[in-house]
Amino acid sequence: MRQRFAPSPTGFLHIGHAFSALTAWHAAQDAAKDAGGDFLLRIEDIDVPRCRAEYEVAIFDDLHWLGLTWPKPVMRQSDRMAAYQDAIHQLVALGLCYPCRCTRKDISNALSAPQEGVDQAFGPDGPIYPGTCAPRSMGDLGAGDAVRLSMTKAIDYLGGASKIAAMGYHETGPDLPQQITLDADSLIARCGDIVLARKDIGTSYHLSVVVDDAAQGITHVTRGCDMAPATSIHRVLQALLGLPTPIYHHHRLIRDEAGKRLAKRDDARSIQSYRNAGMTPDQVLGMIGLA
Ligand code: GLU
Repeated sequence: MRQRFAPSPTGFLHIGHAFSALTAWHAAQDAAKDAGGDFLLRIEDIDVPRCRAEYEVAIFDDLHWLGLTWPKPVMRQSDRMAAYQDAIHQLVALGLCYPCRCTRKDISNALSAPQEGVDQAFGPDGPIYPGTCAPRSMGDLGAGDAVRLSMTKAIDYLGGASKIAAMGYHETGPDLPQQITLDADSLIARCGDIVLARKDIGTSYHLSVVVDDAAQGITHVTRGCDMAPATSIHRVLQALLGLPTPIYHHHRLIRDEAGKRLAKRDDARSIQSYRNAGMTPDQVLGMIGLA
């Protein structure tokens, strides 16, 4: 078993991150007793302008404070742009991509144009892309363009709806079915033509995470259930790129007293703030039900 924790250094880790990292860590530790398990840390810093060195240092400090260790050097996504470019070229070579010049505003304007009987759908990345640039071809790629995956073409390439339905992934969450199946219609309606390469950073979360989980030989992905809707996208990308599919565990989210999920800007619940207040790691573990 090889687990990973993959934070982005865009803020201080909060106790929800602690829960995620420790869940992955404990699974790897339990496995280590029998067959051996590893726990890796990966710094997901593709969004360079939003990432800060001080947050990265705090990630290392907080995780060490919680008692976690990992092999060094850690993988840092900002060092991996060539691997992401290779993967994008593979998908382009399959004829599944198109360049997109739409801004967020273009997308929201296109979606707010009256379309009788059509509900605006939101996917893991926000509003489902209306397909404005879909007729464009990659030969026409401009400097400021993003690259999108045509989900319809991707599904056709993978053998159509019946093949997609037979393609799923294994989920180990406590209350969830064991085998999650994919559905072509909902991939199109609920995910749509996702961005593979953002115009500003040349890659995207979905592409990078799939490429890196494979490069690091991750067998088990442990992350919050807010990420579950993105996993179908990851499964499709793994199939297109010929990469293995890990087992997924989407765990419960840690919420505040009002039931709201924690966010990075929630400094009051950062691990740092509890450390600074003199709490022990065990007390923090107790707060998230892991003591
Ligand atoms: N970098 C992502 C985050 O911090 C990780 C998501 C994942 O584990 O796949 O939310």
